[in-house]
Amino acid sequence: MSDSTSDVIVIGGGVIGLSCALYLLKAGASVRVIERAQVGAGASHGNCGTITPSHIAPITAPGAVGRALRSLWRRDAPLHVSPWPDPARFAWLAGMTKFCNWAEFSRIAEARSALLQRSRTVLDELLEIEQIDAGMQRTGTLYVYRDGRQLQSEQWHAEWLQRLGTAVQVLDGDELAAMEPALADGVAGGFFHPDDASLRPEKLVAGLAERVRVLGGHIEERMPVRHLQTRSRAITRVDTKRGRFRAERVVLAAGAWSPKLARQLGLHLPMQPGKGYSLTFSPSSQMPQRPLSLREASVCVTGWSDGLRLGSTMEFSGYDKRMNTRRLEAIRRAAATYLKVSEGPELTERWWGWRPMVQDELPLIGPSARWSNLMLATGHGMLGMSMAAATAELVAGLCAGPAPLLDPSPYAPSRFGL
Ligand SMILES: Cc1cc2nc3c(=O)[nH]c(=O)nc-3n(C[C@H](O)[C@H](O)[C@H](O)COP(=O)(O)OP(=O)(O)OC[C@H]3O[C@@H](n4cnc5c(N)ncnc54)[C@H](O)[C@@H]3O)c2cc1C
Repeated sequence: MSDSTSDVIVIGGGVIGLSCALYLLKAGASVRVIERAQVGAGASHGNCGTITPSHIAPITAPGAVGRALRSLWRRDAPLHVSPWPDPARFAWLAGMTKFCNWAEFSRIAEARSALLQRSRTVLDELLEIEQIDAGMQRTGTLYVYRDGRQLQSEQWHAEWLQRLGTAVQVLDGDELAAMEPALADGVAGGFFHPDDASLRPEKLVAGLAERVRVLGGHIEERMPVRHLQTRSRAITRVDTKRGRFRAERVVLAAGAWSPKLARQLGLHLPMQPGKGYSLTFSPSSQMPQRPLSLREASVCVTGWSDGLRLGSTMEFSGYDKRMNTRRLEAIRRAAATYLKVSEGPELTERWWGWRPMVQDELPLIGPSARWSNLMLATGHGMLGMSMAAATAELVAGLCAGPAPLLDPSPYAPSRFGL
């Protein structure tokens, strides 16, 4: 078996790996993406496609651990931790508790906001320059509350956004109903985020892959990386069943699978898969005009010209591949409470995906402190679509220059000794 060589190998063909590949190609590097299955086989396929500079709050907000513990016995709760004993999952949750305070919240929210805002700008430029049709809709997003007490208790959301320079409008029930006629009666109020947007994730992934190929990048599909060969402090070869590859640098962008590969290098990424589900329908007879976050139910509704998607749940059940139909039914029931028409005539897809969740809910972007030619680009949790463009800009800048505009230090893997 002969070895193929390129400047950079990117492991993982999701939105993060493909975006990094594209930016590296544009910076003049030769790039090979190695993908276990096919591009978009992971979380980047059936997600809700919202692009949300407004989503600054990590799930590590104070009180998160209590909520997680209360969910242990409710298999249809929006946030569910499987009670099945798994030392790795419980160690991860225990480690999360040190981030559940307002000082950490402030640090994390600021870092998320900086990356999200930069990504929103860079994504617009990317779609324009590369002529990618991802169904981008610049309509803003709405948070919808039916329970006035919950709306009151989450006023801090608007205060934090204002503090971080992200536009937000607080709406009472009448204003919200007037703004979104698809909502059923009985809404208490909400928040409008005018700078948010949405796109069809499958289209973005396909568009990125096409541009990578057009710019001369290689995408190897159905080729799981099996082994990372090392010498001294460097990765010298990436081995798959069908080929061996060498490169100056390796970018690890394997989403929720990243910890499995990193373990070969002695790196323990503080990550767990956070399973989410979605149902996609043909367009309904009364589509919402912009994506909705149904707050009490934690369900996201996104409509496009060719479909309507309901997505939700954060299930910590390890690498469990089962489709939990109870969860899908809970999503359908919740959406039916908030919307006049919550489904289209045809159910076109039932899907689940693993979000790559880092303990502090900030991604791991940047060079490894332990391996001289390893760059991490993983751990984007609930926000990979929203953060991909700025992540790619950072990775390309750190690998090939020029120095990125955004300060990379809050996302540095070295914060966990990686
Ligand atoms: C229900 C749901 C709704 C969501 N909604 C949104 C949203 O509205 N907005 C938003 O911003 N984000 C959203 N997300 C989060 C978003 O989907 C993820 O953050 C993002 O897709 C992560 O991208 P990724 O490229 O890191 O991972 P993935 O898309 O999972 O890609 C990783 C790739 O690595 C490959 N791989 C794994 N192991 C190997 C190996 N050994 N060798 C080679 N390749 C390998 C996998 O096959 C996979 O294709 C949502 C997620 C879910 C589950």
